[in-house]
Amino acid sequence: MKFRRIGAAAAAATLALGLAACGGSDDGGDKLKIGIKYDQPGLGLKEGNEYTGFDVKVAEYVAEKLGTSEDDIEWVQAPSAQRETLLETGQVDMIVATYSITDSRKEKVSFAGPYFIAGQDLLVRADDDSITGPDSLDGKRLCSVSGSTSAQTVQEEVPGVNLQEFGTYSECVSALQSGAVDALTTDDTILAGYAAQPQYEGQLKVVGNSFTEELYGIGIQKGDVEKCEQINEAITEMIDSGDWQTAFDETLGTADFVPGPGNPPEPEPCS
Ligand code: GLU
Repeated sequence: MKFRRIGAAAAAATLALGLAACGGSDDGGDKLKIGIKYDQPGLGLKEGNEYTGFDVKVAEYVAEKLGTSEDDIEWVQAPSAQRETLLETGQVDMIVATYSITDSRKEKVSFAGPYFIAGQDLLVRADDDSITGPDSLDGKRLCSVSGSTSAQTVQEEVPGVNLQEFGTYSECVSALQSGAVDALTTDDTILAGYAAQPQYEGQLKVVGNSFTEELYGIGIQKGDVEKCEQINEAITEMIDSGDWQTAFDETLGTADFVPGPGNPPEPEPCS
């Protein structure tokens, strides 16, 4: 018993020395901080200390090309409404979180990419045939997330809808399941990820009538053209090497989601 304890202490000391020798600092100062979603299966999902999804794989690929190993990534939760602020205040170095490139966001942040094209759609309960698209939403209780293009678009397109905005899409899914709302609107990618979860099997369905084009970019600090160009190079390489397809097949592909037309996209020039 005593021996074992000494052994453990010695092992811990060796480990500590090993870490110091590798130049690892314990304040995390040299980490690359990447904002992702924590509750979107197939895209960005945190389960314990495991991070999975297509956005996570894109982020890891890009980080490696920027010279950062997986161990030196610090994941940060980036809810839709907080993404610009997280970048502006330097709490993250980049954001890979189903983040659509838009002109109004470009006033505060810059984007590399796009690395994926999604489209806004609707998720309803499996037995509901009354909602077939944005045209049938008048008077319905619809859930979406604050600070998302999804909430903004539906508010503009369907003024007669009863929109309830939550902080995350997983809260909307619970509300849909319990009957507190009639539908959830956001990108088809996100909806497919939820619908494929074993706990919702047979209960939820994606309407399959997408009505916008969402170009997913990698958000960075405004005006960092050099980093944007490095990231675009990494995205292009990921696509050309086939790693983009593999990453997709291993993540959202397992939810039977097929990328729509235009995928994989070509990154836009940085400015
Ligand atoms: N892609 C849309 C957006 O950036 C909806 C998904 C999200 O909120 O992350 O607003």
